Amino acid sequence: MHKIQDYHFHYFPQYHEEYKEVCPLVDGIMVIHDAQKRMQGFLKGLEEFRSVIPIGIELSINTNFSKINNMITSLKEQGYHVIASVHTYKDHSHFLDVLNTIQPLLNNIHHIGHPFHKEKTVLPDNIIEDFLTFCKKNSVIVELNERYSRSYNIQFYQRIKEELMFVYSTDAHCAKDIGVYKKLSKYNLL
Ligand SMILES: [Zn+2]
Ligand SMILES: [Zn+2]
Repeated sequence: MHKIQDYHFHYFPQYHEEYKEVCPLVDGIMVIHDAQKRMQGFLKGLEEFRSVIPIGIELSINTNFSKINNMITSLKEQGYHVIASVHTYKDHSHFLDVLNTIQPLLNNIHHIGHPFHKEKTVLPDNIIEDFLTFCKKNSVIVELNERYSRSYNIQFYQRIKEELMFVYSTDAHCAKDIGVYKKLSKYNLL
């Protein structure tokens, strides 16, 4: 059977029963945010799917090397895939700084989540080139994210698709959106 690819969609306890239907059909990773590990029902519910689908943590990465190192090591030991996302960044250069600072740790993650997701306009060419070069040099997998697909990042996503190792993700926050790629399809990125 051909499974739908979705390497980053979120587990929420209120959709627990619906995930039971969908997850067996998915080639991908079901995640919770690092910050949700201590929230009622999140980690316990996610763990119930361990034998059904690979499970993981979406980890917010920053320039604190030792802290990120400890977190990735610990999560891997517990059998979680790590999706590393730069959730807060000041500007383009800062986004690249985060990646460069923790570069040796990226061997231990599954992939980088929604690159430059905060952008409101097209990325500068030099930033795109630096990002692509970094990912190629370090053999990093990058996701093409449905949630953050925008008309102005089509070219950037196209470059990722053509030049990098990549996975598709919806970043879905409810069960019915898993594996649904309306925007990526509209932009001819599937
Ligand atoms: Zn995220
Ligand atoms: Zn996410």
